[in-house]
Amino acid sequence: MEQFNEIASAFECPGTYLGEEPYGSGHINDTYKVYYDVDGEEVHYIRQRINHKIFKDVPGLMENIGRVTRHQRKKFEEAGADQVDRRVLTLIPSVDGKDFYQDAKGNFWRTYVFIEGAVGIDVIEHTGQAYKSAKAFGGFQCQLADMDDRLNDTIPNFHHTRSRYDTLMQAIEEDAHGRVANVQAEIAFAKEREAIVDVVIDLMAAGGIPERVTHNDTKLNNVLMDCETDEGMCVIDLDTVMPGSVLYDFGDMIRTTTNQAAEDERDLSKVEMNIDYFEALVKGYLETASGFLVPKERELLAFSGKLITFEIGLRFLIDYLQGDTYFKTRREGQNIDRCRKQFKMVQSMERQMDQMQRIVEGFQ
Ligand code: ATP
Ligand code: MG
Ligand code: MG
Repeated sequence: MEQFNEIASAFECPGTYLGEEPYGSGHINDTYKVYYDVDGEEVHYIRQRINHKIFKDVPGLMENIGRVTRHQRKKFEEAGADQVDRRVLTLIPSVDGKDFYQDAKGNFWRTYVFIEGAVGIDVIEHTGQAYKSAKAFGGFQCQLADMDDRLNDTIPNFHHTRSRYDTLMQAIEEDAHGRVANVQAEIAFAKEREAIVDVVIDLMAAGGIPERVTHNDTKLNNVLMDCETDEGMCVIDLDTVMPGSVLYDFGDMIRTTTNQAAEDERDLSKVEMNIDYFEALVKGYLETASGFLVPKERELLAFSGKLITFEIGLRFLIDYLQGDTYFKTRREGQNIDRCRKQFKMVQSMERQMDQMQRIVEGFQ
């Protein structure tokens, strides 16, 4: 395709451009595997069209990714790590010396070295995967704990649970689509838990929890696992790296990794927080993160899962009340089903919270 030729010639990839194909199962950007011929050898890259509808400040986002990946590389090299090119994303510069290229239509593109022999796991199959992904994310945060200048806030107030709660109250009052009557139980569930929404925000404001560099999308498939050894090789998908609390990263690992049900599963009996996966996450995470966590962060690790799961549930509930404008839906009621799944996970964590807490304490 003509457009791809233009994009290909905008990056400093050595060799002859051969073509590309859509790649992976990402939901946000358009991702392609790109093929080049370098002296008779086939070389691959990942090329992505960045979703600038979702990310309003792409240059700021790319500046964050450039700074983070260069910092990681330095850390790996200082530690004498092997296979550094498979452990950290490598940006290929554009011909005008930037980390991205903007085409005539206003789309933003970036190119990474393709990490061979490693894959992202979409649905968890065993505890080893939870352990290895948490270890990789903890290692990622650890490497970035000493970055000097603050990163750009590319999505302001990303995890401001209080604002989400207030938005919900407003959406209930407006009832713009006459749906409030259908979801009285969910609204009551949310109101009963109002007290938890300020816990992390207040502690951060008071300095009890430090602001750090965080990933903000710590799903299992955002760690590429080595196909031979299963090792968590590389943390990818850095669009949301920002200043924040590591608790949201760990909480989102709990939310996304400890249950295999679909995001809009209607059979809620399938929705439970699996305590074995939780334990594996804690073990992997503390192996790499315990060196920098302060006691208050450690104390709130189990709670963080409940908090972020509640927050995501609120977002689905808000979108349902506001007429499904933010999250794409394929069928009626999908957003309320998504909300119910999150709230069921919250309940499941509440039931197991004592045990979760004991597991965290057991790894002191
Ligand atoms: P998400 O829905 O998780 O936000 P996304 O649209 O932001 O996804 P990415 O996660 O960045 O996209 O990439 C999509 C997929 O492409 C990944 O899941 C992974 O399989 C693959 N991928 C990304 N970067 C690389 C790389 N450097 N080497 C090999 N594969 C990669
Ligand atoms: Mg991804
Ligand atoms: Mg992403």
